[in-house]
Amino acid sequence: MKDTNKHQGLRNQLVNQLRDKGITDEAVLAAIAKIPRHLFLDSSFEDFAYQDKAFPIAAGQTISQPYTVAFQSQLLNVKKDDKILEIGTGSGYQTAVLCTMGAKVYSVERQNELFKITSVLLPKLGIRPKHLSFGDGYKGLPNYAPFDSIIVTAGAPVIPPALMSQLKIGGRLVIPFGDKNQIMTMLVRKDETKFEKHEFGEFRFVPLLENKN
Ligand code: SAH
Repeated sequence: MKDTNKHQGLRNQLVNQLRDKGITDEAVLAAIAKIPRHLFLDSSFEDFAYQDKAFPIAAGQTISQPYTVAFQSQLLNVKKDDKILEIGTGSGYQTAVLCTMGAKVYSVERQNELFKITSVLLPKLGIRPKHLSFGDGYKGLPNYAPFDSIIVTAGAPVIPPALMSQLKIGGRLVIPFGDKNQIMTMLVRKDETKFEKHEFGEFRFVPLLENKN
């Protein structure tokens, strides 16, 4: 579990690329500059960890591309102590970015293998989400709701109503919406029943799957 000057140099280059691609939230960029992404990947990918690319992780899933992580994190408009629900913990890298930005993160993962790996890795790196959960993210986490914002990190064929209902008024739900390709979609909750929809172009994610348990 080594993090060297070379890794830091590569991270700084990655941050510059993300700036060039239009990421402006300094807190997001500072988190990406700090987090050792190579430690979230299989060691055979170590040399590529700071390329702006997605890579395979356990259970046939992927760690999202840094640009995608940055883009979604920026849309969340994170403020310190925000209570954030994440659906799709995966490698835990997105979780780590939000924790490093000072958010209280609650995250759900439906692959037990990933849930176990990530539950061990994050504390080892000194990253402490409020709660990691193994289960079906379509249901959200009703026992911990409401949330200041919700981020879904898998491609959602529908927008789960449970997630909409667990959002505070004024809160944001950031969700890649669509079957094969996804449109990055942000719903802002205006009141009990009204949500304002914003769309931000096309992305590609592994699918948000229904409960298999
Ligand atoms: N944020 C993660 C992205 C991982 S890919 C990272 O950067 O590493 C998306 C993740 O969503 C996968 O780990 C997948 O298992 C998980 N997922 C898919 N459907 C889900 C569901 N219904 N509930 C919770 N997690 C789900």
